[in-house]
Amino acid sequence: MGGVIVDDFMSTNSDGVWAIGDIRNTPFKQAVVAASDGCIAAMSIDRYLNSRKNIRVDWIHS
Ligand SMILES: Cc1cc2nc3c(=O)[nH]c(=O)nc-3n(C[C@H](O)[C@H](O)[C@H](O)COP(=O)(O)OP(=O)(O)OC[C@H]3O[C@@H](n4cnc5c(N)ncnc54)[C@H](O)[C@@H]3O)c2cc1C
Repeated sequence: MGGVIVDDFMSTNSDGVWAIGDIRNTPFKQAVVAASDGCIAAMSIDRYLNSRKNIRVDWIHS
């Protein structure tokens, strides 16, 4: 099938990297599939960011 391999959460085997749409291993390259992938990835990324135990920020707005 080709493309970047992702799991059900659109996550690749590289930590903190997701892939969606035509670039991933989807059998059907359609706009609605890409949009759906994007929704799944966004929710997955939100979960990922909010589950981090240690966060090192680059700056803090005062
Ligand atoms: C001729 C044609 C007709 C189609 N008709 C339909 C249809 O009727 N219905 C339907 O549902 N789907 C249709 N599709 C499929 C649909 O267009 C795709 O499935 C959808 O656009 C995939 O979205 P995407 O965001 O994954 O990729 P894309 O829409 O391809 O977006 C990828 C973006 O990344 C940009 N990019 C690439 N490389 C880089 C880089 N190095 N740095 C920064 N940006 C980069 C590209 O310029 C592009 O804007 C059609 C496709 C084609 C080619």
